[in-house]
Amino acid sequence: MNSQILQLRNYCNSLVKYSRRKTREVKIGDLPMGGDNPIRIQSMTTIDTMDTKGSVEQTIRMINAGCEYVRITAPSIKEAQNLQEIKNELRKQGYTVPLIADIHFTPNAAELAARIVEKVRVNPGNYADKKKFEEIEYTDSAYQSELDRIREKFTPLVKICKEYGTAMRIGTNHGSLSDRIMSRYGDTPLGMVESALEFLRICEDLNYHEIVLSMKSSNPLVMVQAYRLLVQKLDEEGFQPYPLHLGVTEAGDGEDGRIKSSVGIGTLLEDGLGDTIRVSLTEEPEAEVPVAKALADRYAHREGHEPIPEITQYPINPFDYARRATHEVVNFGAHQVPRVVADFSSKEKVTPASFFALGYHYSVPLDKWNIADMACDYIFLGDKTVDFEIPGTLGLIYNHKTWLTQKAKDRVYPFITQKEYLKGVETSSRLNLIYALLKDLTPDFIEKLKQDSTVVLLIDTYNNHGMAEQRRIFVELINQDCKVPVIIGRAYRDLTAEQLQLQSATDIGGLLVDGLGDGVFIAAENCGSDKMVNETAFNILQATRTRISKTEYISCPSCGRTLFDLQETTSLIRSRTSHLKGLKIGIMGCIVNGPGEMADADYGYVGSGPGRITLYRGRDVVKRNVPSAKAVDELIGLIREDGNWLEQETK
Ligand code: SF4
Repeated sequence: MNSQILQLRNYCNSLVKYSRRKTREVKIGDLPMGGDNPIRIQSMTTIDTMDTKGSVEQTIRMINAGCEYVRITAPSIKEAQNLQEIKNELRKQGYTVPLIADIHFTPNAAELAARIVEKVRVNPGNYADKKKFEEIEYTDSAYQSELDRIREKFTPLVKICKEYGTAMRIGTNHGSLSDRIMSRYGDTPLGMVESALEFLRICEDLNYHEIVLSMKSSNPLVMVQAYRLLVQKLDEEGFQPYPLHLGVTEAGDGEDGRIKSSVGIGTLLEDGLGDTIRVSLTEEPEAEVPVAKALADRYAHREGHEPIPEITQYPINPFDYARRATHEVVNFGAHQVPRVVADFSSKEKVTPASFFALGYHYSVPLDKWNIADMACDYIFLGDKTVDFEIPGTLGLIYNHKTWLTQKAKDRVYPFITQKEYLKGVETSSRLNLIYALLKDLTPDFIEKLKQDSTVVLLIDTYNNHGMAEQRRIFVELINQDCKVPVIIGRAYRDLTAEQLQLQSATDIGGLLVDGLGDGVFIAAENCGSDKMVNETAFNILQATRTRISKTEYISCPSCGRTLFDLQETTSLIRSRTSHLKGLKIGIMGCIVNGPGEMADADYGYVGSGPGRITLYRGRDVVKRNVPSAKAVDELIGLIREDGNWLEQETK
């Protein structure tokens, strides 16, 4: 990251006061986006575009679920042509939803679709290029002649869009950058931004401005950095403030997909970025819509929140990940993974069986604890004491007065308020959790923290703009050179499990993506099971790549190009490989974006033809056209060959 970028951190209106970035209004059919319009929700059909009836029915289901724009893939001229049939049928039935054609590789399909639908999406990484995955050195003149070639190929589409009043999304994908961009910038956020700007410059030269931009990646950290950098570059280079389409690609399914999407999309929404959302889940498209709506709805009344003091010096680089420097206290901070603290303070009674939900299984015949990969590190018990032997890796935290009665035991620590701490109550010689809000960060408190090597701060917030308020705490600590480890604490009540996942992944994930936080504490009252809450904490850490506790699946949401049943195959692969902690497996419905879009997966399972799968090791093809009935076994054989296989434990 060059020093010029480091100086310019103004990627949003304000880091402390919520307001949406003011963007240009773009006309898309009769439903404009950007400007003062609400955050729009969209999704994509999964049915073959040549199936007119199926596409129309699925589109209607999506509209009924709340989808405001519907994207449909157009891999070739014939599908582009069929968009007319789909559109006619929808209009005939009274549906005016704007349609978007999704284009990869095929300018001729784009040029036809732009005459039919309200918006086209092009991928600048493959609109004029076939990806070769080659390392090519470009001289300045060779680079320029590539740009000239793109201009020649792309200009006709821009002219058609102008003529027909069709909008366009220039949608960069982290995994499918052109060889030209890769050679100069690598697969970095800056490369993603430049990839879009190459196309945007052509549009602006042709005085065409009905443009929306996106910077998607399956890695939420890369995605967040790329969007921020894009905004900053647009301002810096004097481009118009084009609206942003937010999305995390290949987020997967279930809670993983929801949490990963929230970390990426939610973090940007918190700072007022984003004009439309597409949540990519390996599920039916209508299932994506409520998730996107729930994410967007949180900002409808965000303005007017409790004020947060301004930041005069921002010490965090929003374009590059670096973990905040802290000292180590027991197993918190420094190079330790972020710790998970579970909340059992409101339990009626705590028994060994209560710990099952937190990843600790007590075996009576063996008289020992089995510890799962997602076993929490600490339990906050408030004033409830336990009268049994606890697992050796677990710590217990009590309210201060109860701790005084328990302190002779191993691995028990006090929870102390800032007031009690400043008063000088008795503390543990090893670890003390001090609870504080932003207003508690007085000069004498920070000074005391700096002198104390036993403290871990547990931060909380009551502000409606809570992520920003907690980020303000970190800013203060960094600016005051206070290296105390920090647990991010958030409290929720009366939410569904899904709401809890989406909200906590945004609130806590939004800090972790910037390297802030040495632990997570979710207090959830009436939000679902203890197991779900505990796993949510681990899933947020996994999504932010700060602590890996399971296998990661990068599976595409499927579309009209998909060559096999993605949902079924993903669950089959998951059932065979979910014990391979830390491994990343990409599952892609087609070869078009396949190896590119799964970017940093260790292995790839990609549809290459009807009933045929191609297997990848990293970005290299290792087996082509394997019959799908044998493909999962072959994938496992490959993992085994590489020494990455483990036999599943039988319980
Ligand atoms: S990778 Fe999946 S979502 Fe992307 S184009 Fe292929 S089938 Fe469609």
